Amino acid sequence: MANKGYYPRISPFSSGLRCRCPRCGQGKVFSGFLTVAERCTICDLDLSKQDAGDGPAVFIILILGFLVVTLALLFESAFEPPMWVHMLIWPIVIIGGALAMLRPMKGVMIALQFQNKASEGGLVDYE
Ligand SMILES: [Zn+2]
Repeated sequence: MANKGYYPRISPFSSGLRCRCPRCGQGKVFSGFLTVAERCTICDLDLSKQDAGDGPAVFIILILGFLVVTLALLFESAFEPPMWVHMLIWPIVIIGGALAMLRPMKGVMIALQFQNKASEGGLVDYE
């Protein structure tokens, strides 16, 4: 309610992947690693009711699972390494990849929810 200024529509992927506010594209969405900030510091958008739930994790599981299984099969067929090499490489790739993807994926989900005015039970007022 604080700012009724005009904000041009920005891509939810552009703002989300940069972890920026879905309305102005400038302010930070997160106040911690995955903690959503109360308000945008630039345009004062209320972010306190934003809840991406399990959405980011589901997409990361699907995307990362596909990538890791494909890479593991290619690696195995190309080099036929001993099993301990697989057990050393893939947990690091999975944990590192998941941690690297969580923030931008959650940012995209929050931006998509904002742009589509989505919320549980339609209870969030986006104005
Ligand atoms: Zn903002």
